[in-house]
Amino acid sequence: MNAFTFYMPAKIYFGKNCIIENKEAFLTLGKKALIFTGRHSAKLNGSLKDVTDALETVGIGYLVFDEVEENPSLETIERASKIGIENGADFVIGIGGGSPMDAAKGAAFLIANPDKGADVLMSSEPLNHIPVAEVATTAGTGSETTQYAVFTLHKQGTKNGAGQKTFADIAFLDARYTESLSDKVTVNTAIDALTHLIEGYTSKKANFMNDRIAESGFAIFAECIPAIKALDFSEEVREKFLLMSTIAGIVIAQAGTSLPHACGYMPTYEKHIPHGRANAIFTRAYLELFKDQTKVNRMLAILGFKSLEELNDFFKEVLDEKEEFTEADVERYTDALMAAPGKLALHPYSLTREEVYDMFKKSLLVY
Ligand code: NAP
Ligand code: FE
Repeated sequence: MNAFTFYMPAKIYFGKNCIIENKEAFLTLGKKALIFTGRHSAKLNGSLKDVTDALETVGIGYLVFDEVEENPSLETIERASKIGIENGADFVIGIGGGSPMDAAKGAAFLIANPDKGADVLMSSEPLNHIPVAEVATTAGTGSETTQYAVFTLHKQGTKNGAGQKTFADIAFLDARYTESLSDKVTVNTAIDALTHLIEGYTSKKANFMNDRIAESGFAIFAECIPAIKALDFSEEVREKFLLMSTIAGIVIAQAGTSLPHACGYMPTYEKHIPHGRANAIFTRAYLELFKDQTKVNRMLAILGFKSLEELNDFFKEVLDEKEEFTEADVERYTDALMAAPGKLALHPYSLTREEVYDMFKKSLLVY
């Protein structure tokens, strides 16, 4: 067995009404919260009200920044952080999908470092931050149990993982908030979580303990496949999705994501492809790159698929749309990825341009 380190310090509260029932947990974080949400969903699904009720009951002040866009930009985070600084916020709460949860993490650094601009979030300069609580209302990114945050860089025309990393101190997981998700977002975010499990499981940093956790995630996903195909999401299925995405967060917190995520960012930026589907597009060709298919086959067996083709057919069935790509896109994406060796670093062996080109070509023009 290879040596490994395992670290995931977020305290998780899982279950119906977990925020109200554990409201005292906020007292450990600070006295005034800056709450991050998207424009609408947190007000509609009850999560914002549960948080503000909990804060009011325990006597904590708060402000709400409800302008986080999907794939949040550095500009938005900087704007929100200024409001937090001006109003003396000493901890942040992200409520939503990955976008508000990541925005909250970014602001935690900027509020603690009021003399710095948002570009510092992409640097690895050692910076302190204020405490972070996250409330997940999609079941997909796992941001509540990862140290990552992903931001849109308009200046560079892409998205990138932040250099500044922090886990949440506290994560609240109440699947009731996910009931209002559209079928499309439910499926896309579940597939995002599945690709986290897959990429963490096949990453260079995979380890024995993390793999067993990933396998438990695959088993939960397998139980949800009939519901995904039928678009029939019971309370029990929603809880399973949320648990699976949190497990997937724990897995990528240790082992990272790999090529499907790296490949998906450019098409997502250019063609507005939902993140989960963008990853799915590349998964089959990515897994075919492995010369030793032992782990791939173990994973397929747990998921209940006979082959990678069958897994890809499942993706096509449940993620129905398809964009048009050209040979020029394939060339351009290949060049961009080859120019960013950090994005290839978690593949277990080094890849040639031909292999990367082939993966893009199969994913975008053939499969
Ligand atoms: P999202 O971008 O946070 O939200 C997508 C849409 O879903 C928004 O329109 C949002 O509306 C809506 N929504 C959220 N919760 C809802 C609910 N309960 N009911 C109805 N609608 C709801 O989606 P996401 O897929 O969770 O996050 C994607 C972001 O996370 C990307 O930027 C991605 O790169 C990042 N990501 C981060 C990590 C990590 O480890 N940190 C991992 C993977 C991906 P509102 O805007 O009104 O809220
Ligand atoms: Fe993801």
